[in-house]
Parts: sequence; C-alpha cells; structure tokens
Amino acid sequence: MKSLLGSSIKDLETVALNYGEAPFRGRQIYNWIYNFRNKNKNIDQIDVLPLDFRKKLSDDGFKISELSLKEKNLANDGTLKLLLSTSDNESIECVGIPTEKRLTVCLSSQIGCPMDCRFCATGKEGLKRSLKASEILDQILFIENEMNRKVTNVVFMGMGEPLLNIDDLLLSIRSINEDFQISQRKITVSTVAIPKMINKLSEKSFQILGKCQFTLAISLHASNQKIRETIIPSAKNYEIKNIIEDCKKYVRDTGRRVSFEYLMLSGVNDKLEHANELCNLLKGFQCHVNLIQYNQIDEVEFKRASLKNLQIFQSTLSNQSIAVSLRKSRGLDKNAACGQLRQNARGK
Ligand code: SF4
Repeated sequence: MKSLLGSSIKDLETVALNYGEAPFRGRQIYNWIYNFRNKNKNIDQIDVLPLDFRKKLSDDGFKISELSLKEKNLANDGTLKLLLSTSDNESIECVGIPTEKRLTVCLSSQIGCPMDCRFCATGKEGLKRSLKASEILDQILFIENEMNRKVTNVVFMGMGEPLLNIDDLLLSIRSINEDFQISQRKITVSTVAIPKMINKLSEKSFQILGKCQFTLAISLHASNQKIRETIIPSAKNYEIKNIIEDCKKYVRDTGRRVSFEYLMLSGVNDKLEHANELCNLLKGFQCHVNLIQYNQIDEVEFKRASLKNLQIFQSTLSNQSIAVSLRKSRGLDKNAACGQLRQNARGK
C-alpha cells in the first residue's frame, strides 16, 4: 500500500508523469488532499481525475490514507479524542483541543511507546511500531473532518516518543508546514529526552527542512535526577544536567526557546523544595516551564497535586523570574490521559 498523504506537489506531479498524465493531474491530487481536505479519502472519489487514471492508481495500491475511525469521545469542554485503526489492526489516539481561535491537534508518533514512564497509560503496553509520516498526518485530517474546522496548532504529545521516530517526524513536519500551511512556529515536539537526540533533531531539521523553528518541549517532570529516575526509568541514561546543557546548545543553534513540561504529582515533585530546586536548575536559562495537572489513571499510584501546591509552585518560579504557565487539563471527563482510550478499547 502506498499512501499519497505526505507527498509534496513535486512528488505528485512525478506520480502523474509516471502514469503518462500531465503534471497538472498531480496538482489536482495535491489540491484534493491538502487544499480541499476532502472527506473522501479514496482515490476512486477524486472525481476531477480521469476514471482510468484513478483505476490505475487504485490497482497499483495507492491510497490517500490508511487509517479508519474506531471510536470517538467528545468531552464537555469540546475536546475530541479519536481512536483510529491502522491497516495492521493496531490503534492509535489523537486529540483535538478547540478554543475560540485555535484548534490544536495532539498527535501520536508511535503505536505504543518503549519509554515506560510510570505515570503513563501508553507506556504500560510497550512499543508495537513507529508510525509512518502518512499515518501521523492522517490524524490531522481525521480531527479536521470530525470537528469541521481547520487545525491551527500541532503538538506531538500523544502516544510514542517522537525522537525515536525522527525521520518520519521530520517528514510529517515538512508536510504540516508546506502542504497543510501551518507555520513551524505553531508546532511543538515533546520528548522525554533521548541521549544525543536533541542535537540530532536540530541538525536533521536544518538538513531536511532548511530551518528549525518548531518548539522543543522537554518532559522534565522532576527537579533532580533521583526523582526523575523514579518516574521515568530511561532517565538513568541521561543526566538532568546534561539535558539542560543540550537544551542550551539547541537554543544557541536554533534561536528558539525551549519549554519544560512538569507534571505535578502529589507528594512526588510538587513541594516548595522542588520548586526552589527547579529554579536553581534553570537559573539564567531563557526557557519556559509548563506546569501540568495530572490526569489520574487506574493502574498507577500517582495522584494529582493539589491546586494549592500548584499555585505555590507557580508563584515560586515566577518570583525567581522563570517564565511559567499552568496548563489546565482538557477533556478530563473522557479518558483524557495519554493512551487511556486505546487501553480501554482493548480491555473491552
Ligand atoms: S509519557 Fe510519552 S514518552 Fe513516556 S511512556 Fe507515555 S507516551 Fe511514552
């Protein structure tokens, strides 16, 4: 099966030429996929193309997309979570988070995840495989079609560790930027941090995309190495101080600010002493800290930090001139935590 999603205008002109068609036929496919964002994703339905060309493409295994909708969950605040089936019968999640002006989509980059973070539902089931760029992009089309509006912002914060799928991650970012016409500045790549991969991300981004303007968000979740290792087992391979150094180099190389994600876990990392420790760690570094309320899942012992601890933490950082914001949970009432919808569906 060959998915056309993720193909550039040049790629599609080449496909047309290879079938003895004029290049404008390739541009018609391009418009169908990206400009019209048509709900009909079968090649047969691209009615601007001659019938015999459509038939040849279908017979040769071309498809626009390979995913299908399995389940959807709409929360009271409008957040929509989709469970999508892949052609090999696995499932992935994506989430649409609307506000008045924006529609942010949270994308998965892998089926499952090998990182095994202890607070995460996805990590419980290990990695099945990485997603192809076309499968990453298809999540955007599904959210747009279900929510009937265009996506404005993209975050790679769904299932999987994006930096372990770096080639398809960057291929999909190319397409999001050039084909879906979403600025790189409106794209965020979130990682738990893999040794050497922060440098590699900026290097490869400059090589493949010619620029590196998306936001890098590091899932730090701890103010010291010891706590980090208790909640993220892979952290033992990458000292927290080395992560910060690599992030500083990333900022120098790209000119982009780095965000640090900090999941507030009651009794684990939410005390005043942790806030002060985090301030010392980030002192003098132009960065941004996102404090996140935890969505509890049944299988693990972690609890959501109290609002009071959250506020003290936030004001401690703010008083020491560290840019900080509080990310409110969205769609909490509908299996909002990463990997929960997929896990519930498998348990049925
Ligand atoms: S939090 Fe992210 S990196 Fe960690 S196990 Fe879950 S999906 Fe993987």
